[in-house]
Amino acid sequence: MIDLPSFEALFREIFTNNKLDRYITENHIAKFHTLACELERVNAEMNLTAIRDPAEVIAKHFADSVLCADAIPEGARIIDVGCGGGFPTLPLGIARDDLAITGLDSTAKKLGFVQSTADLLGLRVKTLNMRAEAAGQDVKYREKFDCAVARAVARLNILLELCLPLVKVGGHFVALKAAAGREELAEAKDAIHTLGGKLIDSRDISLICGDEVQGRQLFIIEKVRPCDKKHPRNYAQISKKPL
Ligand code: SAM
Repeated sequence: MIDLPSFEALFREIFTNNKLDRYITENHIAKFHTLACELERVNAEMNLTAIRDPAEVIAKHFADSVLCADAIPEGARIIDVGCGGGFPTLPLGIARDDLAITGLDSTAKKLGFVQSTADLLGLRVKTLNMRAEAAGQDVKYREKFDCAVARAVARLNILLELCLPLVKVGGHFVALKAAAGREELAEAKDAIHTLGGKLIDSRDISLICGDEVQGRQLFIIEKVRPCDKKHPRNYAQISKKPL
């Protein structure tokens, strides 16, 4: 386990380099340290993440997840589609205690870690073990969220059909993408339109981890019209014939 002073030094350096200074408070540092320790402890029993080096965990999981924080409105009810081991759900819940976050995933195993760690940290996080396309057709979840976020789940044209049906009209879908996101965006123009979305912002971001600089893209899509009832389709149709 990395001790708190060593973690704090790394965390301050990485969050400062990534212009995330507003998330460097004693409270944030203590919670991110607990999250790092829990990840390491549980990762020994269950494969939550292949990233194990503390500096990489802070940059590639924590900072990377928090890069989208200022794109989410105050007090929003959000859904993280395909949250896996809790990214961006857990770092976002630590950084923004005004948000109510639902971490959705079709795999139950990792959600146990997400819920118990969120409870340990006192975060406003609930988990939902469901397929996104089933949630999008369920009246309890369809068009109920102010914002959907997703990282590393599917190509954008597929992801849009999983996420936009869950967002209220007037709400947003914030897609966290790697450097190749621009190509995905070009391919997703029809999906955005068909699902009642409108691209309102796209941001090029550099994620800095020591000497390494990785490109990231953030796409912010507003839901301007309700989705047609036929969306989302079942996953076989979505993936075989993306919009
Ligand atoms: N977002 C996390 C991250 O960035 O570390 C996890 C990424 S992991 C590569 C993709 C996750 O999406 C998996 O946990 C998988 O179970 C989930 N997933 C993929 N398609 C899904 C769907 N249709 N509904 C719900 N979860 C889905």
